[in-house]
Amino acid sequence: MLVIGSGASGLAAAVSAERTGARVALATKTTLQACNSAKAQGGIQAAFSQDDSPEVHAEDVMRSSHETAEPRLVEVLTSEAPSAIHWLEELGVEFTRSNGGYRLARCGGATRHRLLQVGDRTGHAITKALREAYESGAGTELPHHALVCLQPRENGWTATFETKNEEIADVDAASVILAAGGRCFHEAETRGELSTNHPNATGEVTRIALDAGAEARDLDALQYHPNGGAWPNTMQGYSIPETTRAYGAVLLNADGEEFTDSLGARDAVSQAIVDEVGTGKGVLTPDGRPAVWLDTTRISEEDAEISLPYMLRRYRGAGIDPLAEKIFTYPVLHYQNGGLVIDEHAETTLEGVFACGEIAGGTHGRNRMMGNSLLECTVFGRRAGKAAAEKART
Ligand SMILES: Cc1cc2nc3c(=O)[nH]c(=O)nc-3n(C[C@H](O)[C@H](O)[C@H](O)COP(=O)(O)OP(=O)(O)OC[C@H]3O[C@@H](n4cnc5c(N)ncnc54)[C@H](O)[C@@H]3O)c2cc1C
Repeated sequence: MLVIGSGASGLAAAVSAERTGARVALATKTTLQACNSAKAQGGIQAAFSQDDSPEVHAEDVMRSSHETAEPRLVEVLTSEAPSAIHWLEELGVEFTRSNGGYRLARCGGATRHRLLQVGDRTGHAITKALREAYESGAGTELPHHALVCLQPRENGWTATFETKNEEIADVDAASVILAAGGRCFHEAETRGELSTNHPNATGEVTRIALDAGAEARDLDALQYHPNGGAWPNTMQGYSIPETTRAYGAVLLNADGEEFTDSLGARDAVSQAIVDEVGTGKGVLTPDGRPAVWLDTTRISEEDAEISLPYMLRRYRGAGIDPLAEKIFTYPVLHYQNGGLVIDEHAETTLEGVFACGEIAGGTHGRNRMMGNSLLECTVFGRRAGKAAAEKART
């Protein structure tokens, strides 16, 4: 069986398929390390606190999505979240702990403290552990294989790749997992905007699947991260972790007034910033870009050192200390909410073609909560891996 894409979802799928004894090949556009997942900083959601449960987590997802998420997928996501976390721990991920338990933050749209973190490099830790697990198994790696076409054949699919030297290579597989992420880098380039995304997030695999006959949903629903870095210019397009707001930072207008609930759902917070700037209450960066303030001086030194060390290093390296002065922020193109239609086993509407991670739609409806993407990658990556391996055996 064949997995396409080496972000968290593709790696989770490849590891779980390989562990069922399936013969797995993992193809990816450039290097195995190149992906959005490794850039994820904030964290991953799972209901572990005393006052929380998978049901409350699911209610938060449904409300944040404005009831547009697919309840069957949401139930899978939230009910398997704790076991997905334990699986990642078995693979070597060490989540930040305090007072004998996980250090749980409350993220935008959540009614409980539910966000687990590995400092502020959660995606890096998760992809590293998954990659090492895959590399220690018997699976094949096909770096510098960009999918250009997918066609049905008897008992499976033929995937056509463009390789490093612009040569064409066909790979036949009984089942295929599409884990090639979203399209926000390409979309931002087209719109002339900034994006948080890796340059490989260009979305052609979704187009290839649609051409092969797959169904998609909510493809027009793109998400802006409320807190793109707006200044200094080396931080433009950087996604300031949402955990800054979880640990006390608030959004302020030019008059120093809080103009929105800083821990609201992502779309609401992004819209509030755009509206505030629209009414003339924003500020301008030194290079003339629209922005508002993120008052990061309200974060305690201790919280920042434990949960935001990378963000602090980046800003201080650029000459600004976020614990001593407010920083400029403005929404930035970040995430493709919709994607290929899947069932609970991550199978698309094409038999034998599975999809997981950002390329799939439904789990977040039209508005994803922070921390649920890495979770989706792990939960549905594992499910896709097992189901595609089973399919390949039959
Ligand atoms: C800066 C940033 C911060 C984030 N923070 C968080 C967070 O704190 N918590 C959270 O839950 N989510 C976060 N997200 C979102 C989350 O990280 C991503 O949505 C998720 O990791 C996507 O994983 P994926 O496996 O679906 O895709 P990706 O990680 O993007 O991987 C896609 C893979 O497919 C490959 N590929 C693309 N096209 C082709 C092709 N044609 N042929 C072959 N291979 C191809 C790519 O090279 C890549 O290896 C963040 C995202 C960004 C960008």
